[in-house]
Amino acid sequence: MELLKQRIRQDGTVKGDDVLKVDSFLNHQMDVALFAEIGREFQRRFAGCGVNKILTIEASGIGIACITAQFFHCPVIFAKKSQTKNIAGDVYTTRVESFTHGKVYDVIVSQKFLGPGDKVLIIDDFLANGAALEGLIDLTRQSGAELAGAGVVIEKAFQPGGDRVRARGVKLECLARIKSMSEETGVEFVD
Ligand code: 5GP
Repeated sequence: MELLKQRIRQDGTVKGDDVLKVDSFLNHQMDVALFAEIGREFQRRFAGCGVNKILTIEASGIGIACITAQFFHCPVIFAKKSQTKNIAGDVYTTRVESFTHGKVYDVIVSQKFLGPGDKVLIIDDFLANGAALEGLIDLTRQSGAELAGAGVVIEKAFQPGGDRVRARGVKLECLARIKSMSEETGVEFVD
């Protein structure tokens, strides 16, 4: 998606060799007009897939998922990061290691909101090692819902997550795929 790549070139900053900061338009301050174009693009790529639920993980996936859901006319569920060790009640649960914080979270979704008969599109902001996406795929599998696929705004293709998720046969659509990046040279895209 050219508009997104231009924006990353213009406003993204690279930290170290594996963190891209896009907090001026994607995951702190949010450019809602850009989100609308992102949502429209996901809708185009998953048109005809029968999506009736969008699933994301808190916090930075939520804004993108909500705008995207307006194009699919469906609700958004965000998986909650839980501090509680003993999770009581009717929830699906999985563990996710956070790329940016290095912590492991229990992540939960209420069984009320996801189940057999649902067709799920997973949405997230970044794909790095794939832990967040694999956690969301696991929650979908536990619920008995069908997975339509996963849409990610930025894939760091030099990290293993994308290959891992594709190897599972998941339809994965990433709007900007980064081949390499460094503080000196900036970002280079796959295509
Ligand atoms: P993964 O689970 O694939 O290793 O990492 C995905 C999650 O980590 C995303 O939900 C995102 O919040 C965060 N993340 C991973 N890489 C980056 C990055 O380069 N920049 C920012 N801002 N967040 C990232």
